[in-house]
Amino acid sequence: MTSKWFAAAIIGGAVFGWLLAVNFADVAWLNALTQIIQSTFLAALKMIVAPLIFFSLLSGVMQLREAGSLGRLGGVTLLYYLSTSAIAILVGLGIVFFIHPWTDYPPLQGIPTADITFIDTEAGFAATISNLLLALFANPFAALAELNILGILTAALLFGLAAAIVLPKDSNFPSVVSDITLIVYRIAGWVIATLPLGLFAIAFQLTSKIDVTTFISLAHFALVVVGATLFHGLVVLPLIVWLVGGMNPIHFLTHAFQAMVTALITSSSAATLPISIQTAQEKLAVSRPKAAFVLPLGATINMDGTALFEGIAVIFLAYMFGVPLDTFAIIVVFLVTMLAAAGAPGIPSGSMAGLQTVLLAVGIPLEAIALVLLIERPLDTIRTAINVEGDLVGAVVVEKWT
Ligand code: ASP
Repeated sequence: MTSKWFAAAIIGGAVFGWLLAVNFADVAWLNALTQIIQSTFLAALKMIVAPLIFFSLLSGVMQLREAGSLGRLGGVTLLYYLSTSAIAILVGLGIVFFIHPWTDYPPLQGIPTADITFIDTEAGFAATISNLLLALFANPFAALAELNILGILTAALLFGLAAAIVLPKDSNFPSVVSDITLIVYRIAGWVIATLPLGLFAIAFQLTSKIDVTTFISLAHFALVVVGATLFHGLVVLPLIVWLVGGMNPIHFLTHAFQAMVTALITSSSAATLPISIQTAQEKLAVSRPKAAFVLPLGATINMDGTALFEGIAVIFLAYMFGVPLDTFAIIVVFLVTMLAAAGAPGIPSGSMAGLQTVLLAVGIPLEAIALVLLIERPLDTIRTAINVEGDLVGAVVVEKWT
């Protein structure tokens, strides 16, 4: 099934669940059935998520080893991608810190209001840091078993790093890891194939908790995401292309326009890649080998719009589902979003799997994803355009500094 049809099936499943619930919410057997489907689906998702994160990160680190062997070009590219993703999340979290209109409305029915405390005065700074360190350096087996996302990330990074240093060049470990990753991906694919059914059940169960204020809150959430994304795309990235890339931002935006519109229409950085490469070479004066290295890598791991969106989405869903977030949780959101955005594939709704990882990391129930899916398609268009803009700015910056 192409990703477009799959996305349509997901939305179809969710909408069908909603429509059915609106009309038959108190039919007992339908309630029981959707409850069973929901539990099975969420259990299957949780079953696969730990190995998926561990092996995809490990094989990512192995690939970075190759990028690292490209020396300065690889180094500058990675540095650019890491720092702009971090800036994007900070823009998202910074804006949502000041502007969070949905808190004027109650969270979902039957869910207590949670305090969102950015500075956790009770726990104190030292306690926050020591909690963070305890989670980061947990026993790797315990981390996998307990779904401690931070612990899994550290284990995979350290394992990959040590393997890169200690193994000989002709070791077949990287290919074993990539084979295991393929197997895990296949199992995840089976679980994901049932997504329309799972979302149907979740939507059915969620409907009873939703009223008109939820839709108002969702609209506010969408407006904040659009505003923050536009700020990043029209202010932050042009400033970077000007100050770091040495290019007039108006010149950049007018020439990047076609690629950005393509991204907007396709909702896919991967599908836009041929246009991005052509744009970089022919309109932004980036040399062919650099464009051929920076842009495919960017379409896979550099997603500013996605990172920004995930940060705001987590804060919004934490409120709607009554999960309190303290300073520790905000740091976790920052770190895990960096990796989740880097791991998101450049396809329509590609970030939804990574968003689940961030939700799990701070204890937000997985079914929260159904709420975001209601508004996901229009938001995907604009964040993909900004993802592609970020890649093109990266190409200009790398051209200048290598
Ligand atoms: N659609 C996005 C892209 O292709 C990924 C996502 O955020 O869902 O860049």
